[in-house]
Amino acid sequence: MFKAFVIDNAGGSLTSAIRELDDARLPPGDVTVAVDYSSVNYKDGLVATGAGGLVKQYPHVPGIDFAGTVLVSEHPAFKPGDSVLLTGWRVGEIRWGGYAQKARVHGDWLVPLPAGLTTRRAMAIGTAGFTAMLAVIALENHGLTPQSGEILVTGACGGVGSIATAILAKRGYQVVASTGRLDMQEYLRHLGATAVIDRSPFAEPAKRPLEGERWAGCVDSVGGNTLARVLAQTKYGGSVAAVGLAGGSALDHTVIPFLLRGVNLLGIDSVMCPMPRRTDAWNRLRVDLPLEQLDALTVAAGLADVPRLAADILRGAVRGRAVIDVNG
Ligand code: NDP
Repeated sequence: MFKAFVIDNAGGSLTSAIRELDDARLPPGDVTVAVDYSSVNYKDGLVATGAGGLVKQYPHVPGIDFAGTVLVSEHPAFKPGDSVLLTGWRVGEIRWGGYAQKARVHGDWLVPLPAGLTTRRAMAIGTAGFTAMLAVIALENHGLTPQSGEILVTGACGGVGSIATAILAKRGYQVVASTGRLDMQEYLRHLGATAVIDRSPFAEPAKRPLEGERWAGCVDSVGGNTLARVLAQTKYGGSVAAVGLAGGSALDHTVIPFLLRGVNLLGIDSVMCPMPRRTDAWNRLRVDLPLEQLDALTVAAGLADVPRLAADILRGAVRGRAVIDVNG
């Protein structure tokens, strides 16, 4: 038996409860993991509240990432006792996820826990931090260096934004953090932001296809008008990593910044990211993300806190990262 946070759909209305389940209920897969920690990401908020129609079948166990120890393995790369983590592959969406004491998945989706990381810190990073790292790698692959100029991070107090800020600062960039929570200036400066700005001007629709050139690069969690405004303000040859849609999924813009300024719009996907890029990003996280900063942006919670945190993350009220101790 194992404990899990289970969502049911009774005639269109969702209910959730922590339930004891038999191991026979675990989905198919060649590796069974004793989960230590999962975390709360924006998509977990969507799944737990039913927004976005991501879940196709109920009952469902959410949790799009987890870290723990292999219990049983029929996969050649893993044996009982190995420490592993998982992000993406639509686990926690169309497959049962990490808000449970046990998970069963395909071994091809698992990443060995990077040396020097505990399972708790791996989930403090989680999907959000892994994605932030992918975004920084993509920007640097397109020529960004600390000498390029100011880097904008939008949604800076969120999970992706907080970790992107800490990584970029550690790598020597001048990070400008855009936030709706100006009372969090001290938090953002502690993570390494050199300036903190109000996000509200970015929400205004772009009036011109090109504005004054300011940003050498951007990690954007917000999308919508914000992304359009950032593209219009990106310097010649600069790059914008489009990570999220916390402010909207529509992109109403012209191609002018691409044609006249050679601006690059870089799509970032963490879910189906190929394994070599995953392991590269996790190895980079060990070097580029200071653990002291990671601990400062993390809060711990239990399965019983999931409904509250899911609602909070959708209204942009979670600061940094929340890890879920599934045994707590
Ligand atoms: P969080 O909720 O932790 O962060 C989002 C932040 O965006 C908020 O904290 C807030 O920051 C800001 N925000 C929220 N609502 C609005 C709004 N209406 N307008 C402007 N800003 C807003 O979520 P995550 O960091 O986990 O995820 C961020 C985004 O990235 C999500 O859209 C998520 O789906 C996406 N994502 C994509 C991945 C991929 O593979 N591409 C992987 C992981 C996440 P502040 O208060 O500082 O303004």
